[in-house]
Amino acid sequence: MIYFNSTKNNHLHVNIETAILKGLPDDNGLYMPESIPVLGPDFWNNADGMTFTEIALEMSFPFFEGSISKTDLGKIINHAFDFESPTIKLNDNLYCLELFHGPSMAFKDFGARFMAGIMAHYLSKSDKKITILVATSGDTGGAVAQGFFGHKNIEVIILYPSGKVSEIQEKQLTTLGGNISTLEVRGTFDDCQRLVKSAFLDSDLKQKHNLASANSINIARLIPQSFYYAYCWSRLKGIGKPIVFSVPSGNFGNLSAGIIAQRMGMPTHKFIAATNINKVVPEFLKTGVYNSISPSETTISNAMDVGNPSNFPRLLALHENNIELLRSNISGFWFDDNQTREAMLEIYNKYDYTVCPHTAVAYLGLKEYINKNEADTLGVFLSTAHYAKFLDEVQPTLNHKVEIPERLSELLNLEKKAVGISSEFNSFKNYLLKK
Ligand SMILES: *Cc1c(COP(=O)(O)O)cnc(C)c1O
Repeated sequence: MIYFNSTKNNHLHVNIETAILKGLPDDNGLYMPESIPVLGPDFWNNADGMTFTEIALEMSFPFFEGSISKTDLGKIINHAFDFESPTIKLNDNLYCLELFHGPSMAFKDFGARFMAGIMAHYLSKSDKKITILVATSGDTGGAVAQGFFGHKNIEVIILYPSGKVSEIQEKQLTTLGGNISTLEVRGTFDDCQRLVKSAFLDSDLKQKHNLASANSINIARLIPQSFYYAYCWSRLKGIGKPIVFSVPSGNFGNLSAGIIAQRMGMPTHKFIAATNINKVVPEFLKTGVYNSISPSETTISNAMDVGNPSNFPRLLALHENNIELLRSNISGFWFDDNQTREAMLEIYNKYDYTVCPHTAVAYLGLKEYINKNEADTLGVFLSTAHYAKFLDEVQPTLNHKVEIPERLSELLNLEKKAVGISSEFNSFKNYLLKK
């Protein structure tokens, strides 16, 4: 059985169920496994003959052994990953890993659906009910809502800033019903986050509800993101070239998960941390100085507008808190909105392929890395969202109408159901007390 410490305390030693249901240790650090299981050459050599869910089960079972049976874990995985994650070839050295085929059409479905299945499993052993509070600026809320929809014993309450999410995103947040409730907050994303934080500290609410967090730093969202790196790697390893992954990054959960796959034995040449002008990590790699950006800069790759990446301590811990080790494994690059738009157009003209702004940033990172390093590598950039979620940017940039997948266009006809509240804590508290 693998135990978990905090990045701020090497002796915490909690089991995986506690780490997942608590989400965050009391010392405000991040949960980290005491050791990362290494899978042997048998697994890596034969992974190309395995399905996504088979790979997922082999990679996750060592973490859950002693806590969830392999049969139950297999069921959770089969339910969570009932969609594809194809790797698309653009040319002999350039591939795109599409991670947007889940229900919310962004890669956050991988983490949210797996976490929901695991939490529901732990709760099913008792009559315990939990209430999950999520503040969202757009993508996370949709993935979490879809992930937890219909799970017994779990109530989800989503808070989003009124008028500050796209129409499609709003419909993803407000049309499910059932165990998902949505609050439209007259305020900013920061207000939503503050309300959630205050709720966790309020003793009346703690008495009434069993509050939990589905925040991106939950270890149950990180582990499943390692699966698609291994799956993609297994499909490309036969080509026999060193593989480089370029990851469009905000809170750095996605990149941390890639490093976890590497530590489990995946032979990766290099990772690229690609960001927008919220360039905290690329700058840290260059100068060794960590300067958070507050408030974060607004860009067209808005899911990466993060000025103080929450998973950064994990990224460091995964490299023994050694900056030289970090530098030798990860190259960092950042790009502004104009470069991002030019890249979207370039990918469209050169490869007849349409990408969202986040994905374009990953492409740019890969291109810059290849320009600076002559090695004959195979580059994979991760596509984190479907371009149709960002129509307002994609259509004017490419100067033509793009097709909207049915899954998204259907949403536009559904009726929005949300309760409007002010950004005062009392109006949120009253809502929760009556719930
Ligand atoms: C959340 C998100 C990211 C950033 O991922 P991190 O794990 O926070 O680095 C990138 N692209 C899209 C579309 C996202 O929704």
